[in-house]
Amino acid sequence: MPAFWTEADYDNHELVQFVRDEKSGLTAIIALHSTHLGPGAGGTRFWHYADPAGALRDALRLSRGMSYKNAMAGLPMGGGKGVILAGPDRIKTPEMLAAFGDMIESLGGRYITAEDVGMSEPDMVAIAQRTRYVTGLPSTDESAAGGDPGPFTAKGVFMGIKAAVRHKLGKDSLEGVHVAMQGTGSVGGGTARLLAEAGARLTLADVDAGRAAALAGELGGETVAADAIMDIECDVFSPCALGAILDDAGIARLRAPIVAGGANNQLARPQHGPKLAARGILYAPDYVINGGGIIAVALEYLARRDGLRCGIAEVHAKLDEIPVRLETIWAEADASCRSSDQVADAMAQRLIGR
Ligand code: NAD
Repeated sequence: MPAFWTEADYDNHELVQFVRDEKSGLTAIIALHSTHLGPGAGGTRFWHYADPAGALRDALRLSRGMSYKNAMAGLPMGGGKGVILAGPDRIKTPEMLAAFGDMIESLGGRYITAEDVGMSEPDMVAIAQRTRYVTGLPSTDESAAGGDPGPFTAKGVFMGIKAAVRHKLGKDSLEGVHVAMQGTGSVGGGTARLLAEAGARLTLADVDAGRAAALAGELGGETVAADAIMDIECDVFSPCALGAILDDAGIARLRAPIVAGGANNQLARPQHGPKLAARGILYAPDYVINGGGIIAVALEYLARRDGLRCGIAEVHAKLDEIPVRLETIWAEADASCRSSDQVADAMAQRLIGR
């Protein structure tokens, strides 16, 4: 494992904890970027990395993204992220989750975890057997916040797409607006359902072609191969799979005036935001548009910590702030000739005191 402080993605992270539990076979990283606004909150990713350096990169980039995301969502939370390095067999055992929970508990509340790619509600329940510092736990009360953040992320992304269409195309309705969706999992699938209800035309792609086809069948959309979705001529390209897809080659392929989707870390490097802007493409900064999930699990956590109940209406009221915040960012970008990601970064950095 390389020294983390020499990594290009190291950004004065407060803590990078390497975790190895030989008995359970757990290998993990917990990265805390900033606790300036509160405990570092961010989900845990369970992923098989061909090279462990990729796991470190993810932990550093994703925890920094969580600092920015939580600050921009107006939450009293800093940024943190867990990454569990899955073996090639991708086996996740109760013993691994227990060891991971013990490690979170030992950090004394500096890091709060939740679901991310590869981690489910039952995994959070298992981790909660060992630590209080976990959220995204199922609720038996339907009117209370709790559980899988995916649907809340999808709702925020949907509202962000609506705001982008209004800003860039001057349309108040999504009727007939063509959205090309990359990834049809929890976030992509949920967003696609809301888009279909609003009358949007969908082109869907997933590396799991059967998953995209099933959703297209349900919603009446079309599908294309996963490697063709960035070439589709459409109104909105919506990345809802993995990150770093907006690199030089990816941006050159786009035939859409808007990029608005739920994936984390969509820009491969900081220079790619201005490159999108130079092509006249409106970009919804990822950590602003996809903040719905963390809003839900953070409000759930804060209420439980204080012995209170967080109603679902409270979560939806905070989700409504997402399109307003995007509008503010785009207006400032238009007025200052900076790209939307640069404007958002500067806002977030001011909030976290960097
Ligand atoms: P998921 O695992 O449910 O779905 C991801 C989908 O993308 C899967 O169906 C997968 O097969 C597909 N996929 C992977 N690589 C692809 C590729 N190259 N082309 C097309 N499809 C591909 O995960 P999710 O929870 O929907 O998360 C999607 C993205 O949104 C991730 O970047 C995640 O970090 C981000 N995100 C998720 C949440 C949340 O609440 N779940 C919150 C914020 C951000």
